[in-house]
Amino acid sequence: MRDTYGRNINYLRVSVTDRCNLRCVYCMPEEGIKSLKHEDILRFEDTLKIVRAATALGINKIRYTGGEPLVMKDIDKLIYETSKLPGINDIAITTNGILLSDMAGDLKKAGLKRVNISLDTLNSEKYKSITRVGNLDKVMESIDKCLSLGLKPVKINTVLMRGINDVEFENFLNLTRELPVEIRFIELMPIGEGIKIYEKNNLSFMEMLGLHPELTKIGTEKSSTAELYKLTGAKGKIGFISPVSCKFCGDCNKIRLTSTGTIKPCLHSKEEINLRKYLNNEKMLTNAIKSAIESKPLEHHLREESASRSVKGMSQIGG
Ligand code: SAM
Ligand code: SF4
Repeated sequence: MRDTYGRNINYLRVSVTDRCNLRCVYCMPEEGIKSLKHEDILRFEDTLKIVRAATALGINKIRYTGGEPLVMKDIDKLIYETSKLPGINDIAITTNGILLSDMAGDLKKAGLKRVNISLDTLNSEKYKSITRVGNLDKVMESIDKCLSLGLKPVKINTVLMRGINDVEFENFLNLTRELPVEIRFIELMPIGEGIKIYEKNNLSFMEMLGLHPELTKIGTEKSSTAELYKLTGAKGKIGFISPVSCKFCGDCNKIRLTSTGTIKPCLHSKEEINLRKYLNNEKMLTNAIKSAIESKPLEHHLREESASRSVKGMSQIGG
């Protein structure tokens, strides 16, 4: 459906859990966040009810995320049931890739179309220091597995940070020479743990582009608002997503469902609409989602404010 500003909202991002098996420095504190009680997290059947109700409003694209979606017990079942809903034509996940190589085959059979794998460094030691606990080999295995299974396109989300992984920019470019992946450089956002390092580590992509004239612009990916580039002869592509410095709210087509059952019309706003009380009435559920879409603000104000107005971090909202 169209929101108040004429944007066509057809995309629902669903956080299936706030738990994660990593502790990325810009996302979660080392000790983790206080986990929600089991009963406060939506059951898989309830998530499905909400997704079904959203399809009545023209939502046709679902991304399961978290926290880490692959730590959710029934994620394969949830994907399978989602794939059977009339109107859904795209199911994707965003994952850190640690558990993916073992699960990718089953998830594809269940109906998964595409994956975004988060990876901020190609150096094992640095991977351990950014994620605090992760094993880079597992992620690289997952990327190969997804490519061999034909889960297309495989996109790699890389948060580029000054003084942390900016020196690896060229290594990521070179990865696209060998692999048919899309590396998507994402600006660090002042949200969650990102607030603590934003001033010191944020980096403008204009700066990187200026240093790399060998990158040729090939277009804009409307659905994700990534500016796309390519190296001559490379198998893959490079995308730049700048939610802070070039906000793309005018093209925003999504709403988010948190793992506790609230809709967030905008990532950077405090506003949340609780759907739990409507779970047993599909019509009321659809109406509540409709009101949430109608209340979607025109834009966020991250550039003018030093931090997101959302009280939750990305792992709690679903990035
Ligand atoms: N655990 C999964 C993963 O890492 O892919 C899914 C959830 S994670 C919150 C989704 C995405 O949000 C990841 O690509 C991560 O890099 C990004 N993210 C988290 N905090 C961020 C921040 N402060 N700024 C920019 N991106 C952030
Ligand atoms: Fe976990 Fe993803 Fe956050 Fe990293 S970015 S801590 S993998 S939720």
